[in-house]
Amino acid sequence: MASTQHPDSYWLETGNPAPVVPIISGDQKVDVAIIGAGFTGLSAAYHLSRAGIPAIVVEAEDVGWGASGRNGGMLPPRYKKGFASIAKTYGNETTRRLHAIIREAIDTVETIVSDCALDCGFARTGQITAAHSDAHLASLERDCAWMAAEAGDRAARILSRSEMIDEVGADIHVGGWFDPRGAGIHPLNYVRGLAGALRKRGVPIFARSPVRRLVEGPDGVRLELPGGTIAARQVVIATNAYTDTTGFAPDGLERRIVAVNTSVICTNSIGGNRAGAVLPGRRMVADTKHIMNWYRMLPDNCLIFGGRGDITGRSDDPSVYAKLERQLAETFPAIADVGVRHRWSGKIAVTRDDFPHIGRLSPRVAYAMGYGGRGVALANVLGKYLAQLVQGERVDAGPMSANAFDPIPFHAFRIPGMQIVARWYQYLDAKAIREQERSA
Ligand SMILES: Cc1cc2nc3c(=O)[nH]c(=O)nc-3n(C[C@H](O)[C@H](O)[C@H](O)COP(=O)(O)OP(=O)(O)OC[C@H]3O[C@@H](n4cnc5c(N)ncnc54)[C@H](O)[C@@H]3O)c2cc1C
Repeated sequence: MASTQHPDSYWLETGNPAPVVPIISGDQKVDVAIIGAGFTGLSAAYHLSRAGIPAIVVEAEDVGWGASGRNGGMLPPRYKKGFASIAKTYGNETTRRLHAIIREAIDTVETIVSDCALDCGFARTGQITAAHSDAHLASLERDCAWMAAEAGDRAARILSRSEMIDEVGADIHVGGWFDPRGAGIHPLNYVRGLAGALRKRGVPIFARSPVRRLVEGPDGVRLELPGGTIAARQVVIATNAYTDTTGFAPDGLERRIVAVNTSVICTNSIGGNRAGAVLPGRRMVADTKHIMNWYRMLPDNCLIFGGRGDITGRSDDPSVYAKLERQLAETFPAIADVGVRHRWSGKIAVTRDDFPHIGRLSPRVAYAMGYGGRGVALANVLGKYLAQLVQGERVDAGPMSANAFDPIPFHAFRIPGMQIVARWYQYLDAKAIREQERSA
């Protein structure tokens, strides 16, 4: 049985027990073999199971061990770039498609939660994008205007500075963007619950079963694992930022993304009146900085607060958590003394165009990955699209299926490259905040 260590997170502390999942042994034969038991892989398995197509899921570590079991659990109804800015690059028609996909992504999670009766606290408490400068607020206003004019969508609205103080309980933003459709989940309970439901529906899932090699032949693909093999008609690769960890990936797939650490701290329970003043509506918040902070309140009045993790190549640098604690204290001075109870990190997969990608490496091998820090909803909808792709259906995911997804040049130099980019972004963020303070 699988027993890989998960990070010491709030989710692990409060999570439901892990489903009992065996290690693969012997040789198996199946229509579709899915590599990776996170949101992408399990959503693909769920949708294939609904279509009556036999699938097997194999996971190198444990169900939800990757980003899916350790993220912020926030489902924002927007992409990293705003709709108005996406429309400038891709035009209104493509942007309307992207606008529909992001809503479908949250709906997909909601449908899975309800169909599988997942105990993961899914709630649409709304998403706030918090502007750190007037220029960023103006860009959010352009987004709202684009949504209303081009997509007939008037659900989102702009929040003034004083509304932000009421909504967030922090006085550091010039305004914000609010969309009531944004949602939150307990991500580990979602991924564990979904794996349990799939096993009950007869989908085999194997943990601590890393795929070491894919061998493509005329009749299918053979997956080689330490405990056995799988002969599959088709393969789905759903390994996202962990694609490089086991060296199995064909066609330089691991070089098409850059894996970047993201780190999180979780406070002790905030007692008394102070709890009511922080995010009283339980909104999900992410700010507009290049190196963004994001946060949400959890049911027992603990606050999780995340940001960019280590960029030195180390996996758990203590100075990253110290910086997050400083940022938390600057954002919410009234709870600066509450103390931190969990610190953890995970990897996100960054792409050149800031969009995830779905496609095929060959007629028998499909993939979806590259969500950046926005995969909770998107990985679920791309998992659904993967199930359609392997059934031979055409998938229109806008730039996610149309843009090139080639290996990134000079990938071997990604760590120094990321360090340079991160310093530039830190400079831009600090400059915008300084200018904002001067103009106030
Ligand atoms: C700290 C953190 C916070 C985040 N917060 C948010 C958020 O609030 N909102 C949001 O939208 N997004 C967030 N994200 C991003 C989001 O979690 C991911 O985009 C999403 O979980 C990706 O899901 P996935 O299934 O594609 O990949 P993963 O969940 O990473 O799963 C990939 C799996 O593949 C397995 N694997 C790798 N190689 C092999 C192999 N050879 N054989 C078998 N298995 C293999 C790995 O062990 C892993 O479990 C966050 C990410 C992190 C790290």
